[in-house]
Amino acid sequence: MSVLPVLQFPHPLLRRKSRPVEDFGEELAALADDLLETMYVKGGIGLAAPQVGQLKQLVVVDLHASEEDEQPRAPRVYVNPAIVDRSGETLIEEGCLSVPEFTAEVKRARRIVIQFRNVKGEPEEEALEDLAAACLQHELDHLLGKLFLERLPPLKRQMVKKRLAKLAQSA
Ligand SMILES: [Zn+2]
Repeated sequence: MSVLPVLQFPHPLLRRKSRPVEDFGEELAALADDLLETMYVKGGIGLAAPQVGQLKQLVVVDLHASEEDEQPRAPRVYVNPAIVDRSGETLIEEGCLSVPEFTAEVKRARRIVIQFRNVKGEPEEEALEDLAAACLQHELDHLLGKLFLERLPPLKRQMVKKRLAKLAQSA
């Protein structure tokens, strides 16, 4: 397993749409492992393949990724995920490994049902709520070339973009 470099806003690949995965072989399993390892090392709870420059519909999630979390790790891999049902509304504080040192509350559906393939290519379905649902919606946005910044109200989004542009200049 290796830790991959995570692309940072405003890298152009973060704005591209990812393609569905068709090959469920060793290469995909290895990429999923690398994504998980990268997510653990960088301290996130979710990571999408386009964030490491691979435009594939593949995301990994572990709500218990944090070192402080007392529950055992629970790695999940979602290939070609699609939301087939959504309901309710929730406001959850989000961050992103591609937008470091910035968090904001984002409005999402409170409950979702997703259909996806596991890493072996078998179809699965899951119903998710609250943090799990928000996390998946955030990662699915990456597959569409969208960042959580674009889900913020316009004024807030402008402020954030200015701040991030300044940060990028001083780096
Ligand atoms: Zn993200």
